Amino acid sequence: MSSNPVSNPERLAAACKLCGGATVHFMERSGFEIVRCGECRFMFALVPQDYDAASIYKDDIYFTSGGECGIADYDALWRRRLSHFYVPRLDRIRAFHPPARLLDIGCASGYLMRAAQDRGWQTAGVELSPEMRRRAAALTRSPIFESIDQALQSAQRFECVTMFEVIEHLSDPVGIMTQVADLLAPGGILALSTPNCDCPGAIAGEPINVWFDPPEHISYFAADTIRDCLARSGFETLAVEGLEHYCRAMAGDLTFPGWVTAILAPFRRNKRLKPGGLLGKMLERAYHGRMDLYRRTDPADLPRTDVMEVYARKRS
Ligand SMILES: [Zn+2]
Repeated sequence: MSSNPVSNPERLAAACKLCGGATVHFMERSGFEIVRCGECRFMFALVPQDYDAASIYKDDIYFTSGGECGIADYDALWRRRLSHFYVPRLDRIRAFHPPARLLDIGCASGYLMRAAQDRGWQTAGVELSPEMRRRAAALTRSPIFESIDQALQSAQRFECVTMFEVIEHLSDPVGIMTQVADLLAPGGILALSTPNCDCPGAIAGEPINVWFDPPEHISYFAADTIRDCLARSGFETLAVEGLEHYCRAMAGDLTFPGWVTAILAPFRRNKRLKPGGLLGKMLERAYHGRMDLYRRTDPADLPRTDVMEVYARKRS
């Protein structure tokens, strides 16, 4: 890693967005410089002053195109992958709060809200894309706000806010998370997920890059910096858990815990298991229906997880 913090005036100006400490060059990706704080190790991409992080997601094409930025075919992605990761988090939230009023920030077409309704929650959503807002409203019959500001102005408050894979898109994470705390009723719970930029695969970014991926992902967290960010925004972190091999699962690859790999070894003959093969197809069905097998709740396993799941309570 090269480090040359003094020759670039823009870099000198880039104080850490969490603690205000001095930052140094970490890497360059897609034409953006990424810096790391020398004090707290928070990392972020240097984006232009007038950069509007929200503009990418206001465009409906984000959800329907496989272009440079975007999530191709959101419905299939939800059905085959996201639902298996996201919905079990609603059951985890129950350990911290019984069903009441839930706001899903970045609700897309409202599938998570629908699953929350099935579990007894009254729901609302925030979604930047007009087409996704229309679909979420039709599916859930719930209010769908076009921004966090609009939700704040509504004066509605919530016992739970869910915010899955959103915070890495924010250029001012403490500012936005402070607003999110304002959306919560006293004692309300925040559940979020975000890539773990400390995990071994983060810099290589394979098989799919969910980590250092500007201009979409511009704030890069690890277990200590997400706790710090939430503490500065008015939250007390209750649990940091994670998903191991999440990215391989998202890419359709079959990666199993050690004990499954050991059982399969005689059949695989050290070859990579092909999802299209007979055994692969059988296991894809059996295994991807149980994505909780990727879930790690032991803090000792956290450094290996691709994605962190964080539960926090609004401080009174
Ligand atoms: Zn810092």
